[in-house]
Amino acid sequence: MTNFDGNEKKSPRVEIDLEKIHGNTKRLKDFFDQRGISMMCVTKGVLGSPPIARAMVEAGVKLLADSRIENLKRIRDAGIDASLVLIRTPSMGKVKDVVKYADISVNSEISVIERLSLEAGNQKKIHGIILMVDLGDLREGILPRDLGQTLLKIMPLTGVKILGIGTNLGCIGGVLPDQAKMNQLSSIARDLEQRFNIRFDIVSGGNSANYNWVKSAGDIGRINNLRIGEMIFTGRETVDYARVEFLETNTISLAAQVIEVKEKESLPRGTITTDAFGAVPNFADRGTITRAIVEIGRQDVLISGLTPVGDMEILGASSDHIVIDLKKMHVQTGDEIRFHMDYGAMLSAMTSPYIEKIYLNSPHVLEQQF
Ligand SMILES: *Cc1c(COP(=O)(O)O)cnc(C)c1O
Repeated sequence: MTNFDGNEKKSPRVEIDLEKIHGNTKRLKDFFDQRGISMMCVTKGVLGSPPIARAMVEAGVKLLADSRIENLKRIRDAGIDASLVLIRTPSMGKVKDVVKYADISVNSEISVIERLSLEAGNQKKIHGIILMVDLGDLREGILPRDLGQTLLKIMPLTGVKILGIGTNLGCIGGVLPDQAKMNQLSSIARDLEQRFNIRFDIVSGGNSANYNWVKSAGDIGRINNLRIGEMIFTGRETVDYARVEFLETNTISLAAQVIEVKEKESLPRGTITTDAFGAVPNFADRGTITRAIVEIGRQDVLISGLTPVGDMEILGASSDHIVIDLKKMHVQTGDEIRFHMDYGAMLSAMTSPYIEKIYLNSPHVLEQQF
């Protein structure tokens, strides 16, 4: 791997392989394109990292989406050429920034849409709206029976334009985005289009959890967009977490230095009470083992989402330490241990100010963005 900034020995660090992210974006985009579905790339898992956003745009993606307006601002300020979509329904207090930094937002409350329209007028803009429809996952969204009424209220507003509808499944309620749910969204779209004599540009059927449906769907109906984040980074679909054969896994990995290696017993000595986080630990007796400590902890990363590379095992973690059973691996103090990360671990590691972010394999990225 090529290193562009000479920082590769900073620890702890995440290494972000822009070439892999670019490749995954391109192959997924082709996969969805062939089925008549456009892809918004969701950057919230990587804090709206401009180098990553740029790699996605270079792969041909026209829409970038994030749940945080701060992340969209970061992308906008970096001068990246894409339409920006806010995919968490905006709060009243952020309406000004939403209009300023996002071209489009998803919405479910008429009171917020009215404010967006006013603010867009002030900023001499037309703000795009995607109306979220709740199909049973019970997070954001207008109930299907209330959609007509909401549309009637939005149509006279001059600062906003309805671009389409969308739904989000597989999040809070864990509802599977299956053919029945997608048929329902399609028929809602068709019905509204007919009743109001409009045409939706965007009918956004969901997120990475929709991959299996797209793969096997005979009829995608009116669904013509998905908002995809996780699987670009992990190379796995998010229902069964199976590997997607044409994607790279581990586009982002974590490395941290070992600060102690000692042979110690596997069972704590003394009266056992609660650990640093209020739980009573329970360790298996493996006799004497070689224990390594790495300089990273729960303050930095979701430990349950880490898999050390090599035959070793995480025994436990506190705020600033992870303790590892090295088994037969030869590791010394000063060496590094590398970890693969699931999406939750990646999200937390990207958010930790203590972890350096190093970009690999891009000719464009010459400086740290964090
Ligand atoms: C996070 C999010 C997505 C992307 O989900 P992934 O599982 O990362 O693909 C899509 N839509 C909304 C509304 C989201 O909040």
